Amino acid sequence: MPELPEVETTRRDLVPQLVGRRIVGLELRWPRTLDRPPSRAAAEALLVDQRITGLRRRGKYLLIDLASGAILVIHLRMSGRLGVVVAESQEPVHLRAALLLDDGMALRFVDMRKFGRLYVLTGASELDDLLVNVGPEPLEDELTLAAFRERLAQRRTRLKALLLDQRFLAGLGNIYVDEALFRAGLHPLRSAAELTARETARLYEACRMALTVAINNGGTTFRSYRDGWGRRGRHRELLLVYDRQDQPCYVCGGEIEKLRVAGRGTHLCPVCQPLDPLAPATVAVRTRRVAELDAPYLASPSDGSKPHG
Ligand SMILES: [Zn+2]
Repeated sequence: MPELPEVETTRRDLVPQLVGRRIVGLELRWPRTLDRPPSRAAAEALLVDQRITGLRRRGKYLLIDLASGAILVIHLRMSGRLGVVVAESQEPVHLRAALLLDDGMALRFVDMRKFGRLYVLTGASELDDLLVNVGPEPLEDELTLAAFRERLAQRRTRLKALLLDQRFLAGLGNIYVDEALFRAGLHPLRSAAELTARETARLYEACRMALTVAINNGGTTFRSYRDGWGRRGRHRELLLVYDRQDQPCYVCGGEIEKLRVAGRGTHLCPVCQPLDPLAPATVAVRTRRVAELDAPYLASPSDGSKPHG
């Protein structure tokens, strides 16, 4: 399921293909994909003849800005994918919608599970309404450690449920919540309100690091399931606990477990993430080891070097 790094990767992939293009049509193969306005004609009136001026991301939402000030918002949900192809090319079986462009290409929205949605909004105030419950961006400078601590202190929720809550923090889903909690050495069932100052700082850093590593490597989980050009498997080296049940922990060698927490399959190392706080010496060793594991993936993807590529 696409989370913040996958949506950000999609955004970066699409910018050179979409910005500056003019929209010449909207096709809908599954009408309910269009959430608002309710009719294709009303959406077309806002989209057609408009030039695309930029692409933004907010949490897991992709925002396509148009010259008029209107905004096309896309949420991929469970299985949505976006790609630009020649408009005339054969339609994939799960095609739900397509934006036709003035250069003969089309932005296609393919979504097997049909939960993905498009919102065509008239401008910023409708966008504010749509995103009113979306919490702060974990990688933006505005979310300082102090601000994170303040938000956390008010919550008695268990960490797994809290980090999944888009109102608390935007963009993390099941994969990166597990990755962040492992990096922080925190059990998913710990309560937010009981964390020490140091544990809070570790969690803050861990959320940012788990996302940064994934973004720098092209939203690996997404790409690996999506494409077939030889990058498959990279995400296995990059994800430290997610989908690694019964395999050895990269830090301590213990066995990764899978539990059900907050209704979701949850991966953790019971040694690295005990229910009680870790001893400071253990934290120091773990922090060093996790940093070693992340280091190869922190190179910028734009510099051409593809670690483990
Ligand atoms: Zn471990």
